[in-house]
Amino acid sequence: MNSERHLLIPKIESGIVIDHVPAGLGAGILELLRSYAGLDDAQITLGLNYDSNKLGRKDMLKIIAPELPKKVLAHLSILASGVTIKRVDNYRVQGKYSLQPPDHIEGLARCINPNCISNHERQASARFTRLGETSHKFRCAYCERVFELDELDIVLP
Ligand SMILES: [Zn+2]
Repeated sequence: MNSERHLLIPKIESGIVIDHVPAGLGAGILELLRSYAGLDDAQITLGLNYDSNKLGRKDMLKIIAPELPKKVLAHLSILASGVTIKRVDNYRVQGKYSLQPPDHIEGLARCINPNCISNHERQASARFTRLGETSHKFRCAYCERVFELDELDIVLP
């Protein structure tokens, strides 16, 4: 990365960077982060539509927080699996990984089948199971319909 790129979005001394966000998803991730107590008043920088070798265009978020809570990461893995999570300390990336789709989803997404019982029974919390280790398809435990991960409707906390 050259220094000009650093000027586009300021470096952070320590915190979390969510990188390789497909362009257009950044605002949704910001909304998700801000809906969590504890992150709602965190300093967050959102950058949109950067050039990316990998994606063409990408969004990026920088969050001043020691870490992202597990539940936030679980939510993010539904909304934006494939993004890169980097931990920054002392202006340097200390660790990074690609966020993988979850194996199970419970209570974090809604079934988009309008007739699904999980949308009508208050006690029925929608549950989905991944069809295979490398699959992005999920089966609803109630109506048994299969959906692509990005079709599922995120439930904000
Ligand atoms: Zn369903």
